[in-house]
Amino acid sequence: MYFYGMKENQPSIAIIGAGVSGLTAAITLQKAGYQTTIYEANSFVGGRVHSDVSRSQILDHGFQVMLDAYPAVQEFLDVEALKLRKFVPGSIVFKDGKKYRLGDASRNSSFLWSTIVAGVGSIKDKWLVFSLSRKLKQKSVQEIFSSPEVTTLAYLQDYGFSAKMINSFFKPFYAGIFLETELATSSRMFEFVFKMFTEGNATIPAQGIKAIPEQLAAQLPKESLILGKNVSSIVGNEITFENGEKATADFTIIATPAGKLVPNLANQEQNWHQVTVLYLDTDHTGFDEAIIGLVTNEDSLINNFHFLQDVFDDHKNIISVSVVKKHTLNNEQLTERVIKELREETDIKASSLIKMFHINKALPQLNSLNNCMHPTETQLTEHVFLAGDHLSNGSLNAAMLNGKAAAQAVMSKIDGSVLL
Ligand SMILES: Cc1cc2nc3c(=O)[nH]c(=O)nc-3n(C[C@H](O)[C@H](O)[C@H](O)COP(=O)(O)OP(=O)(O)OC[C@H]3O[C@@H](n4cnc5c(N)ncnc54)[C@H](O)[C@@H]3O)c2cc1C
Repeated sequence: MYFYGMKENQPSIAIIGAGVSGLTAAITLQKAGYQTTIYEANSFVGGRVHSDVSRSQILDHGFQVMLDAYPAVQEFLDVEALKLRKFVPGSIVFKDGKKYRLGDASRNSSFLWSTIVAGVGSIKDKWLVFSLSRKLKQKSVQEIFSSPEVTTLAYLQDYGFSAKMINSFFKPFYAGIFLETELATSSRMFEFVFKMFTEGNATIPAQGIKAIPEQLAAQLPKESLILGKNVSSIVGNEITFENGEKATADFTIIATPAGKLVPNLANQEQNWHQVTVLYLDTDHTGFDEAIIGLVTNEDSLINNFHFLQDVFDDHKNIISVSVVKKHTLNNEQLTERVIKELREETDIKASSLIKMFHINKALPQLNSLNNCMHPTETQLTEHVFLAGDHLSNGSLNAAMLNGKAAAQAVMSKIDGSVLL
């Protein structure tokens, strides 16, 4: 599906990185009639959004969901074609040898009674969840990202949630999303994600998370995507590759942290949250619904898990376990520990390890968050523009919106149009 009446005598535009952000920048430019060339270091598109297929099973590189209420989703993706698998709006909490099913009863009535009686927080806590979801439905995304920032922990405490509710639900649930266990992430991200959860569904495409960048890439001419090309520096309009080759571009969008590529940014190191995901064979047949399991024991390394057979068609018993806490175990020790914790904390028997992914650069650590960049803020130098989630917040939504913003900035530079 190629667009678009190409403009003549147009300037050359390079994009570094075929992650979701770089792909979205290219789509925005190509739709407007500009030609782009993406240089991507990996042999595949998608960057952090990737999946392996092993024994016909889809193994995503990290548990990652697309919230279908993200504003950018409708703009850039054909959600119907992705055949999204939806998680139910709740979780199963394993606490002190017991199991509680709790969730948003206003969207799925089967959660009503089990949520009221769940030994996870008081009745007041459950009322506060309801009141928070009403409050955030009314609050626009723009308002959220211009609200004062505190840590998510301070926000929840100020809102009146009990320590029990925070420790038994919010900590494990949001540690699985923020990929840090202290709820130190900005309250803006908490409000944004909470709002997206109340307005839509957590989803994974039927063919795994990598179907998202693959669908984006399919909107671009094949020859505009150059894989296996690692850029080492960008100076002015000259791009140098790791193998010494060079290319020129009138404009370059760097859709990945630029610190290592642009000489005068060399001291701007990006820090990251990490996660390890283990896929294990299990004799457990699953929960018969796509739902997240949470382990609340503070000493446990397991944070959250789900069964692949609950999400994807034709998958046999495989459990995906996320470990967010830092540890010093090697792969063998970690596997043993996770199998033991699964048995002790959840009564689930897992056997052999299928695959383990250590994702050291999963989510950017950011001090202050915004929804997305204004196009005018994406320009770094005369020739170079920036995109990527790390400029705003670690989400597919920010990655897409920032790709679009950088593309708009380049177009305005070319045609002299004013950006509002
Ligand atoms: C485990 C995990 C869980 C996540 N969970 C969620 C979630 O549930 N919901 C959500 O919305 N988001 C989630 N995210 C975040 C989401 O994946 C990112 O926000 C998004 O993928 C960022 O896209 P990007 O294009 O900005 O960056 P990237 O995906 O990092 O893309 C950058 C690209 O640039 C390439 N590149 C880098 N350097 C060079 C170079 N020198 N030369 C050429 N190419 C280069 C890289 O190879 C990469 O392909 C998760 C991420 C991870 C890893």
